[in-house]
Amino acid sequence: MAHLHTYDALIVGAGGAGLRAALAAGKNVKTAVVSKLYPTRSHTGTAQGGMCAALANVEEDSWEWHAFDTVKGSDFLADQDAVDIMCREAVTSVHELERMGLPFNRTPQGKIDQRRFGGHTRDHGEAPVRRACYAADRTGHMILQTLYQQCNKEGVEFFNEFFVLDLIMVDGACAGIVAYEIATGQLHIFHAKSVLFATGGFGKMFKITSNAHTLTGDGPGVVYRNGLPLEDMEFFQFHPTGLYRLGILLSEAARGEGGILRNKDGERFMENYAPTIKDLAPRDMVSRAMFSEMKEGRGAGENNDHLLLDLTDVDPEVVEKKLPDITEFARTYLGVEPLEEGVPVVPTAHYAMGGIPTNVKAEVHRNAAGDIVPGFYAAGECACVSVHGANRLGTNSLLDIVVFGRRGGVEMTEYASTHPLLDIPDDVHRRAEEWIEALMEGDGGEPLADIREVLQNEMMDKASVVRSEDTLTDVHETIGKLRARYELTRVRDRSKIFNTELVEHIEFGFLLDMAEALVVSARARTESRGGHYRDDHELREDEHWLKHTYATKRDDGDPELTYRDVTLGRYTPVERKY
Ligand SMILES: Cc1cc2nc3c(=O)[nH]c(=O)nc-3n(C[C@H](O)[C@H](O)[C@H](O)COP(=O)(O)OP(=O)(O)OC[C@H]3O[C@@H](n4cnc5c(N)ncnc54)[C@H](O)[C@@H]3O)c2cc1C
Repeated sequence: MAHLHTYDALIVGAGGAGLRAALAAGKNVKTAVVSKLYPTRSHTGTAQGGMCAALANVEEDSWEWHAFDTVKGSDFLADQDAVDIMCREAVTSVHELERMGLPFNRTPQGKIDQRRFGGHTRDHGEAPVRRACYAADRTGHMILQTLYQQCNKEGVEFFNEFFVLDLIMVDGACAGIVAYEIATGQLHIFHAKSVLFATGGFGKMFKITSNAHTLTGDGPGVVYRNGLPLEDMEFFQFHPTGLYRLGILLSEAARGEGGILRNKDGERFMENYAPTIKDLAPRDMVSRAMFSEMKEGRGAGENNDHLLLDLTDVDPEVVEKKLPDITEFARTYLGVEPLEEGVPVVPTAHYAMGGIPTNVKAEVHRNAAGDIVPGFYAAGECACVSVHGANRLGTNSLLDIVVFGRRGGVEMTEYASTHPLLDIPDDVHRRAEEWIEALMEGDGGEPLADIREVLQNEMMDKASVVRSEDTLTDVHETIGKLRARYELTRVRDRSKIFNTELVEHIEFGFLLDMAEALVVSARARTESRGGHYRDDHELREDEHWLKHTYATKRDDGDPELTYRDVTLGRYTPVERKY
């Protein structure tokens, strides 16, 4: 028996994208949010540095400059129609959040203050520009709290600690989802006119990551298992400043406020890689530069395995007021005093550029031709619009989730107001039920933690900042073996009440799907672009590769790859120099 619920708009995920969509839909139609976490525990709440918009509050700026930076930052893979929308709507989106009560930092004149971030420049690359709006280094926390309050005010219903397992599809259209209630072990059918996925990223496939434990790609995994494609999975962003060995993030705001990366000789090495904007070059370039420094023996420490983030020249008052949390992380986790010494940092797996393909209305693509799945939407990090192309600029994700979350919510309202509920069979939950029963039957097999550790180490060593045909083939073979081992493991805890072992088991299955789609997409792309760097194909090759990858799961194993042209616009691809 499964419980049945009926809604006009059903949103999966209570991060910034899900809540913004819920707010837009909840004003007009019967709306619910289903989330495996309590809403304010979503990863959006950990976002530190800021959300950008060309407000021009502290210096001259324009949304076109922002669009140019985003396209150039993306290594020209972003779809320029989507980028234009995002950069234009950024300004109203920030003002909307301000009116909802978000406590942005202010200038002495009372305007929203803005600071520098990587890749954001004045007049097409002339110099860094102050474009990021922020609330100290807790911007995401403030966005999440603000949106959650507003959703409650509008009467949006929440199903917290519900884990989505499956999509309900009727003749190629989406008619709801099946979810597992973590507190009771019961299944629920959410029958809905429109469904939006906003389940966030999947950095947990890598050993060193800034991502929360829960970021395992469940949403894209459910989509993939239902025969729908995933776009541009080969592009995964490594953020330059994760705390050494741990990966915990030190926001780029640290460099925006004047922090400098140095090698073991104290040299500001970014001067050699990006002479104009130096430490504020885009993340893919800085992470690669750090790898080069270490490869050439200029890494810091006895093992030449990290670099140093130097904040000692930043005014202590600025550190205190604008970077309080991240400096505390350095003290707590590494025992380092950032006001007096360099903080050891390494590139950390941070952001999935790829995900569920959508158009600018957040409608999900069913194929590379751009046909859509009626009633089905996606937004936020789990989606690929694609505004970030091969590399996302800092502060463009908080913007993306708010802009395309809202657009998704508006479209769902429209769709739900003009379409009936589709009839669904009584037993739509059977597949999920059988799956869970199978996991709980028989012997335990080996501990999941052992299999997970191998995946995370291999992905880090062979599919992270630098890749090649050989390393990707190796890790692909490993994933096949890990899948066989995973399929033999069983959940030992048979209880129905808060069975976290079962949840982790299911999450890991999705993570394996994400890793497989990433590796196969990356091996096929025989060029280097943005976050995808191949040391056996070091150049970008627009003639062959100015296109998006769509990976679709075949029944017999490896994904099948098809391609979709990039939507170009004002900016033609040129060599990327900073
Ligand atoms: C440490 C850190 C700092 C960052 N700083 C910045 C920054 O300063 N500026 C910026 O622009 N970007 C930043 N980013 C990136 C940005 O925060 C994220 O990309 C963005 O917040 C993602 O939002 P989201 O709504 O898509 O997903 P999330 O906030 O991750 O929310 C995902 C939601 O999906 C739900 N969910 C997942 N799986 C299931 C399931 N199976 N069933 C039910 N629910 C499910 C979860 O419960 C959660 O509510 C940062 C990221 C990190 C990790």
